[in-house]
Formats: sequence, structure tokens, C-alpha cells
Amino acid sequence: MGHVERVVIVGGGPGGYEPALVAAQLGAEVVVVDTDGLGGSAVLTDCVPSKTLIATSELMGDLVVAPELGVNFTDAEGDAATSVVVDLARVNRRVKALAESQSRDIARRVEREGVRVVTGRGRLDGPQRVVVDLPDGGTETLDASMVLLATGAAPRTLPSAQPDGERILTWEQVYDIDEVPSRMIVVGSGVTGAEFASAYLNLGVDVVLVSSRDLVLPGEDADAAEVLEDVLERRGMTVMHRSRMESVTRDGDTVTVTLTDGRTVKGSHCLLALGSVPNTAGIGLEESGVALGDGGFVTVDRVSRTTARGVYAAGDCTGVLMLASVAAMQGRIAMQHHLGDAVAPLDLKHVSSNVFTSPEIATVGWSQKAVDEGEIVAESVRLDLAGNPRAKMQGVKDGFVKLFCRPGTGIVVGGVVVGPRASELIHPLSIAVSQSLTADALAGAFTVYPSMSGSVAEAARRLHHRPA
Ligand SMILES: Cc1cc2nc3c(=O)[nH]c(=O)nc-3n(C[C@H](O)[C@H](O)[C@H](O)COP(=O)(O)OP(=O)(O)OC[C@H]3O[C@@H](n4cnc5c(N)ncnc54)[C@H](O)[C@@H]3O)c2cc1C
Repeated sequence: MGHVERVVIVGGGPGGYEPALVAAQLGAEVVVVDTDGLGGSAVLTDCVPSKTLIATSELMGDLVVAPELGVNFTDAEGDAATSVVVDLARVNRRVKALAESQSRDIARRVEREGVRVVTGRGRLDGPQRVVVDLPDGGTETLDASMVLLATGAAPRTLPSAQPDGERILTWEQVYDIDEVPSRMIVVGSGVTGAEFASAYLNLGVDVVLVSSRDLVLPGEDADAAEVLEDVLERRGMTVMHRSRMESVTRDGDTVTVTLTDGRTVKGSHCLLALGSVPNTAGIGLEESGVALGDGGFVTVDRVSRTTARGVYAAGDCTGVLMLASVAAMQGRIAMQHHLGDAVAPLDLKHVSSNVFTSPEIATVGWSQKAVDEGEIVAESVRLDLAGNPRAKMQGVKDGFVKLFCRPGTGIVVGGVVVGPRASELIHPLSIAVSQSLTADALAGAFTVYPSMSGSVAEAARRLHHRPA
């Protein structure tokens, strides 16, 4: 019998369970060590729960245009109903049940492929050994020819802003509240803060968004962020700019957010969306030769190697791009590299991502910022959805399609879509970017009439130049 690779993966999120499947397929013996349950934070506390909550909020948001489209609500007596209300306890029960069932599905899938799952907390004991602290107090030692670290990250809190799980909450705790908050203060206007602020607004909650910047979503396309902010404010959200949180305190049913300039904001609940810290402390990493960079993130190269031989890392613990899709890709690349399969190094210029606000903001490839700063030379076009026939029929007024292509060759290098279901509309642009298609090629493919995707093709058509 040939040599069998023994792969030990620490962390069962997408950065761990996806590569476990690849390693099993490539003939390795695979163990996944996880503290909570397969799927990791992605499935149990982050992406899956938040997107399930957002599914309900989206439905409620859609109902806003119902009267414009000629649909009215009445009560049993036929009198006009003036409000739609959410049953948050029921929504949260659904969220938790869905997350747990998704986690069980993943566990079944990996076990079917022959992967062993060990519940416990893993730590490195040198580059080729993982010691697991088991829930019963015992330990198990796993020798490995390759270790993949995929321990993820946890919500950042401050000593002056400590969650209590009841009214001062991290994003992992919001599914425990049963009554609809009368006033939710969201601190932080990055992707997570913006998504929850938009979701609770649609659910009928009075929302205050505390942002330290001039505009929400500092890392995203500024035109898109402007459209979103305009929509949120029109729907009644209070967005506080250049407002840095100093502390959050609670007195009975009231929470008070104090800003660094002394102003205060009061509400019934506060959600802290202050970013994440990697789960890399106290698990023997530096002692085993795994270098940590700024903020404690594991340093990795484009094939996910750390500085310790045979130790790889994937996902949020590396801080490369905190997305489930990137975590999974980094993990798969690690396995392909170590186990000698064909491998292409990680290319962040092909990643498509989405902010699940209403409207959604989806992006792929090179950004407006990179173009403005001269990192890449590109022509661009922006086409508002308001002119799209399908958008008019559906009562959609906000959003746009933006495309970037190389002058001369016309190759599409990036794009932004803002609108309902932008996460689905970005896919043709993602294919164009990954396959180096030209704007003409994108424009040449049929789109359905009428459809939102018609605007993608129309934007591409506007980038056409007559041959010289
Ligand atoms: C609110 C929110 C919404 C998000 N929505 C999206 C989205 O819609 N789309 C998207 O692509 N991304 C989304 N993300 C980002 C996404 O959740 C992360 O990028 C993804 O979870 C990273 O996967 P991972 O495998 O690195 O880590 P995780 O999913 O965090 O999994 C790590 C696992 O390892 C376990 N663990 C940690 N230390 C140890 C140890 N020592 N031993 C054993 N186990 C350990 C943890 O308990 C956890 O179960 C969202 C993030 C947040 C906060």
C-alpha cells in the first residue's frame, strides 16, 4: 500500500469542511476538529442566520410597493389594514432551526465521504500534531502529515461596550430577542452593520445607524453606498455620520450609546458590528512556527501555506477576504497544493461578493477606487435601473449596473450591480471577468425581454467602439 496522507483540519466552517471533502476525494485520511458543529460560524451564527432573517425582511420590504402595484390589505371586516407586523419570535425560531438543519446536513455529507469529525478544541503541538481538548475533559492527540487551520473569527467587542445578550448584542445574539425592538442602534456601518440596519428597518423597527465615516460601507463602491444610504434615509433610518462610539451602557430597558464627542443616542437595543478578531490566540500557533501578522491573522501565501512546513490556513483566521466563498476556496487550494492535485493560486480579482441590504450591492473584479487611483486603466459606464422596463413594472426605482472594461481590447474587468437580487445579477459579470470576455461578447448574448439582466447587456452595449 502506498503512503496515506493524514490531514487534520482545525475548524469546521467553510474554510474547513469544504477542503475536507477535497482531501477525502484525493484519498487522504481526514479528521475535522470543531468546537460547535459543522458549518462553523458561517452556518450557525453568521451568513446563514443573517440571510434567513433578511429573507423575511425582504418580503416585508417588498410589501411597501404593494399599493403602488394595486394590492391593498384588509382585515377580516374588509377595512383597510394599515400595517404589516413581524412575529420576531417565530422568525428567530425559523432562523435557528434552519441553521441547525444546515449544519446537520453538512455533517452527514462529510461523514458519508469518510471524514471523521471530532468535537473539541484543537491546538497545535508542533507542525505535525493537533491536541484536542474534548468536552468530557479528556484529550485526544492527532498526528498529521498536513494540518489546515480554519478557526475563523469572532465578533470584536470593547471593554467599554460589552454585550449582555439581552439588549447589547453581537450579531451572534440577535436571534435570542423575541420582541420587536422599539429602537435599534446599530454601531458600525461596514457590511454587517449595514445588512442588519437595513433588515431591521424593513421589519418595521426604528433604526439608528452610527457610522464613523462620511458614507456607509467604506469598503464598497461609493456610488452604490450613496444609493443605499439615500434609500435607507428615505425609508426612515437615521444615519449618523462621523460618529465614533465611545461606550455602550444599559439602564433597565434603555441602552445609551455615547459618542467620542460627548453626544448620546438612546434606544431599546444596540447591535455591535465592530468587525472581527481571528480565533488564533492560545492554540500553539506561534510556538509551532506559524507566524501571525497584524491583528493576529495567520500569514499565508496564495496557495494557503503558513510559515510552518505542512501547516496551511484558510478563511477568516487569515483575514484575506472575510467571505465564506473565499474561505472555502483557500481551503480547497491548500488541499490541492499539498496533495499534489492541479492548483491555481487564489485570485482575489475574480471574487464576486454581495451586501445583502435592500437594495443589494454586488461587485466583482476591479473596483471604481482602483480605477480612480490609476491601479488599472479602464473605461466605465453606469446605467440606472430606473429606465429598465422590468424595473418599472416591478416598482423598482433605485439601483444601477456599472461595468469596467479595458480600453482597446474591451475586456470586462469588473462590475457593480445595485438592485433587488443583485447577488444573482452579478453572475454574468463574474463569468465575463473570470473568462476575460469582451463587453461586445457580453452584449451579444441574448437576455430575456423584459428582464433586469437586460440592463447588464445594455451597459455592455454602451461600451462598444466602432472598429477604427
Ligand atoms: C453577520 C455575518 C454575515 C455574513 N454573511 C456572509 C455572506 O452572506 N456571504 C459570505 O460569503 N460571507 C458572509 N460572512 C462571512 C463568513 O461568515 C465568513 O467569512 C466565514 O464564516 C469564514 O469561514 P471560516 O471557515 O474561516 O470560519 P468560521 O465559519 O468562523 O468557522 C470556524 C469554526 O472553527 C471553530 N473553531 C475555532 N477555534 C477552534 C479550535 N481551536 N478548535 C476547534 N474548532 C475551532 C469555530 O467555533 C467555528 O465553528 C458573514 C459574516 C458575518 C459576521
